[in-house]
Amino acid sequence: MDYDSNNIFARILRGELPCVELYEDEGTYAFMDIMPRADGHHLVIPKTAARNILDASRDQLTACMHTVQKLSRAAVRAFNADGVTLQQFSEAAGGQEVFHLHFHILPRRDGVELRPPGIMADTAVLREQATRIVDALN
Ligand code: AMP
Repeated sequence: MDYDSNNIFARILRGELPCVELYEDEGTYAFMDIMPRADGHHLVIPKTAARNILDASRDQLTACMHTVQKLSRAAVRAFNADGVTLQQFSEAAGGQEVFHLHFHILPRRDGVELRPPGIMADTAVLREQATRIVDALN
């Protein structure tokens, strides 16, 4: 399958759509998920085009995994979490809805189930949560 350069995350990377930004480095970008399934649920993406895990390069995956670990540690500190769940969906059959490679980071507390998908968050709440994660990066 080809990469569609008009997918939502490509448009966020180009600054054409807003997001609640968390982190950026040479190869990766991270922002809050607008339909979070846990407090602090956020996404890490490569800055360059990759549809999903099936076409990503070694360099894209390496860059993403470094950022995923950095942000997982920060999110666990920020939310006093007991653990973290990572999710990655590839192709529609695998559950993918946005066709730019992304990794979900979900801080988890013992005994707390994930919320159902598809519920939009309040942007002010996402901003407050992003501030907590960014503060925990430092
Ligand atoms: P999936 O491709 O199945 O991993 O699902 C895409 C994820 O992106 C879902 O968790 C959505 O809530 C999230 N999402 C979709 N649009 C946006 C957006 N504009 N900003 C942040 N997250 C988004």
